[in-house]
Amino acid sequence: MKNGVVIVGAGHAGVQAAASLREEGYDGPVILLGDESELPYHKPPLSKTFIKDPAAQPQPLRGEVFYSGHSIDFRPGSLVEGIDVAAQRLALAGGQDLAYDHLVLATGSRPRVLPLQGSDLAGVLSLRSVADARLIRDHSTASEDVVVIGGGFIGLEIAATLAAGGRRVTVVEALDRLLGRAVAPLIAEHVRKRLEASGVRILLGTTIERIEGDNGHVAGAMTSAGERLPAKMVVIGIGVVPNVELAQAAGLAVANGVRIDGRMRSSVENILAVGDNANFRHWQTGADVRLESVQNATDQAKLAARTIVGHDGDYTAVPWFWSDIGDMKLQMVGLTMGSDRQVLSGDPSENRFSVYHFIADRLAAIESVNRPADHMLGRKMLGLGFSPTAEMVAGGAEALKAALAALPVQG
Ligand SMILES: Cc1cc2nc3c(=O)[nH]c(=O)nc-3n(C[C@H](O)[C@H](O)[C@H](O)COP(=O)(O)OP(=O)(O)OC[C@H]3O[C@@H](n4cnc5c(N)ncnc54)[C@H](O)[C@@H]3O)c2cc1C
Repeated sequence: MKNGVVIVGAGHAGVQAAASLREEGYDGPVILLGDESELPYHKPPLSKTFIKDPAAQPQPLRGEVFYSGHSIDFRPGSLVEGIDVAAQRLALAGGQDLAYDHLVLATGSRPRVLPLQGSDLAGVLSLRSVADARLIRDHSTASEDVVVIGGGFIGLEIAATLAAGGRRVTVVEALDRLLGRAVAPLIAEHVRKRLEASGVRILLGTTIERIEGDNGHVAGAMTSAGERLPAKMVVIGIGVVPNVELAQAAGLAVANGVRIDGRMRSSVENILAVGDNANFRHWQTGADVRLESVQNATDQAKLAARTIVGHDGDYTAVPWFWSDIGDMKLQMVGLTMGSDRQVLSGDPSENRFSVYHFIADRLAAIESVNRPADHMLGRKMLGLGFSPTAEMVAGGAEALKAALAALPVQG
């Protein structure tokens, strides 16, 4: 415990890992290294509110005194450039090096780059950090027309937020539906209709062939259909790639993320990985996944801390996620992979409904639009391994609550 735990990455997972180490009673040094200069902050508000509000400030994950009060040595502006696995040391930018007993890699992910003519023009942006969000906010004040490339969660959140802020937004999506395979087609279609009704233009089955500039600044984007979309800002939101370069160079097993076991340990036992950059075999589906959500970052970080202090126990957290797109709060719980039957509850025309996914008779996931009670019940049901019948689903939240209340008390 001489050198303690060093955590690389001060985002959702890294900060939680530091906090959980103290909650678990770990009393050695905890050093939290982040390459950003900010106090660690919540990422979800960046695409939902921050970019349209000139007065918005980043929302800290924890107040400044939290770190000193819990003897967490938080070091902003610290970029880690290498890991010497044998010597258990890190190389930092600027020449410093640092020893560790345990290392937690919480380096997150970064926006996928689109290799497109014109993508290096000023005004072509993507969103991951608060620095990116500030750029989008600044550019949007001078951009009446905005093009968003990619109809996934982030792209649609940005589109809805900028449209609500008075911009004319066009979303260009290569597939013939929004939200990829992330949600049921019914939900994707609902989101499309509602966004269009709110003034967002959506081009499905369309790609951008090139981005055009004027004096080094973006001026428009040319679609595969030959239409020129004028825009002084183009935001690219086509997914993320995990930040695995450190792990890879150090010889850790990497496959779409740092490979970890059920206790968050990489192929090197005293190096753990958590959050967006970690790839693991999911207990619910048996498939290897990398989950990009605050829930996963938080729960994996908690488990990593438990592993470090010597507890057993594998990762069995129920996965959940949310997204706010205009007037739609989307909440997803469970994993839809392999879903072979969907049951609708509620009425899409009221903008309040859920899709229950089953595999055979087993509840696999619930996707909700403005139905938080279904989502919360879903977390309970999936956590207990309880699957409702179609009649219970049809009976709504009351019937589900009654069914849960009737379950034998767990010992
Ligand atoms: C705009 C936006 C909106 C989102 N909305 C939602 C939402 O509504 N719901 C939801 O569940 N999830 C949402 N997410 C996803 C969620 O924020 C991520 O899943 C979560 O941040 C993952 O946490 P993490 O700690 O793994 O990565 P991050 O929070 O990205 O933290 C990683 C940190 O590590 C730093 N780092 C990387 N490499 C190094 C290095 N070599 N040295 C030092 N530091 C390094 C990075 O700069 C970063 O600060 C959103 C993400 C974004 C960007």
